[in-house]
Amino acid sequence: MRAAVLRAVGEPLTIEDLELDAPGPGEVQVRIEAAGVCHSDLHYMTGDLPARLPIVVGHEGAGIVEAVGDGVELAVGQRVALTWRPRCGECDACVAGNPVLCRFGRVFATTNGLFDGTTRLHRGDERIHHLMGVSCFAERVVVSATSTAPVPDGVPPEIAAVAACAVVTGVGAVLNAAKEVAGRPLAVYGAGGVGLAAVLGAVVAGASPIIAIDLDPEKLALARRLGATHTIDGREGRVAERVVELTGGGVPWLVEAVGRPQTMREAFACLAAEGTLVAVGLSSTDAVAEVPITELVQRQKRIVGALYGLANPRIDLARIFTLYLAGRLPLDALLGTTRPLAEVNEAYADLRAGAPGRGVLIP
Ligand SMILES: [Zn+2]
Ligand SMILES: [Zn+2]
Repeated sequence: MRAAVLRAVGEPLTIEDLELDAPGPGEVQVRIEAAGVCHSDLHYMTGDLPARLPIVVGHEGAGIVEAVGDGVELAVGQRVALTWRPRCGECDACVAGNPVLCRFGRVFATTNGLFDGTTRLHRGDERIHHLMGVSCFAERVVVSATSTAPVPDGVPPEIAAVAACAVVTGVGAVLNAAKEVAGRPLAVYGAGGVGLAAVLGAVVAGASPIIAIDLDPEKLALARRLGATHTIDGREGRVAERVVELTGGGVPWLVEAVGRPQTMREAFACLAAEGTLVAVGLSSTDAVAEVPITELVQRQKRIVGALYGLANPRIDLARIFTLYLAGRLPLDALLGTTRPLAEVNEAYADLRAGAPGRGVLIP
């Protein structure tokens, strides 16, 4: 089967023919229908985040179950979205209802294998690694059955794919991490896939006004179409001052979907007293954000990390699909260009050039 392989940091991905082992106990084989072009993969391609090489990248995907290992109750033919946070169901985090912090997340990150730390991908004798237990820039994957969530009829593959990362992160940042949003201002810093999903989440939650901040007028125009009531072009400067003016004192909630030291600092300055910055943008391992201590303490501001939108994928993806099918989450508007898998490097060139909307690969 064909897959996009990262062999060296900074080099283009290569499309290669790989062998895929049959699913072991607790695992499933999925034929990929669509895979989202997410910025997080780029962090591995550039070396901002570490991974064992060679590795098949891609972590937001959806497809159809083709085969199951022992002990798996999923039916062949079931449509599933793939989730890059594992969910063993038994560790303290899973039992406490916060599977985003499942201890097997570390296993995925440190071994670049599946739950047992081994891989199902190889090319002859050469072992090829898995990214975040998913590796969906490929025609097929073998993943843990707990890395899947069912997709109902009527949800197209492209929507199912982006729902499992960008959408659940952005919508989850508002629905799970923010509280009492209705009728209060909410700002979103960054209008990429995750930020735009946060705008949609803010609409569902009833925030008003909804302020989107970005450097790209095209992305800001898209944010307006999705429900942002105000947009701020960061290139014009004075971002925090303008947010404070617009809201009469700052926002109680801000979703930071960029993950750069400068935008974190600026976003922190946008907060009202007792306001909370919900950080979902991933960054390189050495990036550090600094904030004024007086504002932190005297104005009782808060910063909370919300990996994966604090989502419980089984529960939150079902909510997202229900809202989509009811017409309350117009996720189609998030989609950008669709390309075949062979054009994965062109898709990342689009992303680097700031193309609006989420790119999707169809293997
Ligand atoms: Zn992603
Ligand atoms: Zn767990």
